[in-house]
Amino acid sequence: MILPIYLYGQPVLRQEAEPVPQDYPDLKQLVANMFETMYHADGVGLAGPQVGLPLQVLVIDASVISDDYPECKDFKRAMINPVFLEKSEETVSMEEGCLSLPGIHEKVARSTRIRVKYWDENWEEHTEELHDYAARVVQHECEHLTGHVFIDNISAIRRQLNKSKLNSIIKGTARCAYRAKAVGK
Ligand SMILES: [Zn+2]
Repeated sequence: MILPIYLYGQPVLRQEAEPVPQDYPDLKQLVANMFETMYHADGVGLAGPQVGLPLQVLVIDASVISDDYPECKDFKRAMINPVFLEKSEETVSMEEGCLSLPGIHEKVARSTRIRVKYWDENWEEHTEELHDYAARVVQHECEHLTGHVFIDNISAIRRQLNKSKLNSIIKGTARCAYRAKAVGK
């Protein structure tokens, strides 16, 4: 089932996400719905708050960009309650976008290497080391779980330059090719 994507301005995107409890009903169905929603919107990642759920769950499938970023080959994951064990001090700046902020693309500095622990939708525990773009996608999605979005990292000037776009997202007048939920609509 395709879920509506909550857009910038929605309070749920500013909430700290709660851990998913082990007895959460229909976790597999939620993960399947999130994948379907992400694919429908041509995204490579989607976090719980973006579908209106302040829960520590995210889905990623970055395999579509593996021609440009070989580290993303077969990088399809559902991550429940992810925790960073390590984040490299070395960072790199690259352009990002977000399904909750249609039409906005800005450079963000992220760690080039991370180690992350998480559970999958079958409650199997994983620890993984990721680098470059794969590490970037995980950092972007995990940021959503802390009540932040990627443009929180950009300068005040860059944010000012995006002000009219941000206002149109809030008002619900921004162009958006998928089912979305703006505050103003
Ligand atoms: Zn995002």
